[in-house]
Amino acid sequence: MTASELNFLVVEDDDFQRRMVVSMLRSLGATEVQEAGNGRQALEMLHAGHARPVDIVLCDMDMPEMDGMEFLRHLGQENNAAAVIILSMLERVLLVSVEKMSEAYGVKLLGSVEKPLTLAQLEGLILRYKRGSSRARQLSDAVQVFTLEEIRQGMKARQFEPYFQPKTDMKTGRLMGAEALARWVHPEYGVIAPYAFIPLLERAKEMDELTFMMLEKSVAACRTLQDRGHSLVISVNLSLTSLTDITLADRVTQLVLDAGVDPHSIVLEVTESAAMTDVAHALENLARLRMHGFGLSIDDFGTGYASMQQLMRIAFSELKIDQSFVKDIAHNEALRIVVESSISLARKLRVKSVAEGVETRQDWDTLKSLDCDIAQGYFIAKPMSLDAFLAFAESGAKEL
Ligand code: C2E
Ligand code: CA
Ligand code: CA
Repeated sequence: MTASELNFLVVEDDDFQRRMVVSMLRSLGATEVQEAGNGRQALEMLHAGHARPVDIVLCDMDMPEMDGMEFLRHLGQENNAAAVIILSMLERVLLVSVEKMSEAYGVKLLGSVEKPLTLAQLEGLILRYKRGSSRARQLSDAVQVFTLEEIRQGMKARQFEPYFQPKTDMKTGRLMGAEALARWVHPEYGVIAPYAFIPLLERAKEMDELTFMMLEKSVAACRTLQDRGHSLVISVNLSLTSLTDITLADRVTQLVLDAGVDPHSIVLEVTESAAMTDVAHALENLARLRMHGFGLSIDDFGTGYASMQQLMRIAFSELKIDQSFVKDIAHNEALRIVVESSISLARKLRVKSVAEGVETRQDWDTLKSLDCDIAQGYFIAKPMSLDAFLAFAESGAKEL
């Protein structure tokens, strides 16, 4: 069945548990399964150069000699293409940090499961690999296919469009706004996600043009919506690198006023970042934007860095809790505690709390019981084109 054409490596020091995982893999049809008792053995096996590279590594965290975290670091540093499933007894919150760490090391993480692993979980993760690997391949192709020059051409042709993802007021269940997310509507390749162009633009320090195209089109959309009687707030993502330019706040304000939109209808989402060096300029820009009436949102809250403590001095109007804390909150006590304290922090600061990545009815119900103000996520709707969003708003959105 699903696992037959894949190469596996199981890294686990407990003999019994290792044998359990191996036999589960075999029952799913796997024929190529290697076993290692700790990270060091696993690395040696990977270096030994098996005829076919390992596709999926299943890895315990707590092991003698070389633990799972060190093993993942080596995997990332060696640019090993294997996908990883973390098997662990760690608390969910700890697993979230391990997931973040893996991402930071560039490890392709399929998911993490609390032990004992079930057959259904394993099958689901392998399926995710199969779906994801074709998608990941498309994406990495896309990253390679699109050169900076091609992206520039696409920008010149104004092929980048905001897609709108609804934000819903949790108390009333009513649509209150949308986040504008960049998409490249490519004449040949279709709708391309931000991973294929934003990192390149950031690296080349050429995000500004995209930021302004997104702002322009999003503000025009806001105006269209208001003309049709929908007074909605539109959120636009702002790259921190743009904030170092001291003229940014005035340019943004001018653009919005020229379009006949009140800055109070626009929220700017800013992510915390380690790369944030020019704190003074960022603070000046943010203070000026707030003074002109814009909403300011701390994006991906909970995943960031200390520089944010400085940004906290600014009058933010919204705290956006990162989806890694929101997904599966209904089933996880530790996540619930983290999110509950973020919501309470928001309330004490008198700013709105927004949960992103709300995927299920249960997550929605849990967040509602915690008095979260606003929700965004696939449970309500995925990001969509302006036309689709207009239809969504017109149809009375979604009863929640
Ligand atoms: P973000 O700002 O954290 O945006 C939320 C991302 O989560 C979006 O991915 C959205 O499609 C996705 N998402 C929303 N709800 C769910 C859910 O329920 N489940 C799951 N699994 N995902 C959900 P997207 O559109 O691929 O954007 C990725 C990132 O790219 C954004 O993360 C943002 O950091 C960046 N980005 C997108 N557009 C812009 C832009 O115009 N300017 C800047 N500077 N960054 C942008
Ligand atoms: Ca955002
Ligand atoms: Ca996020």
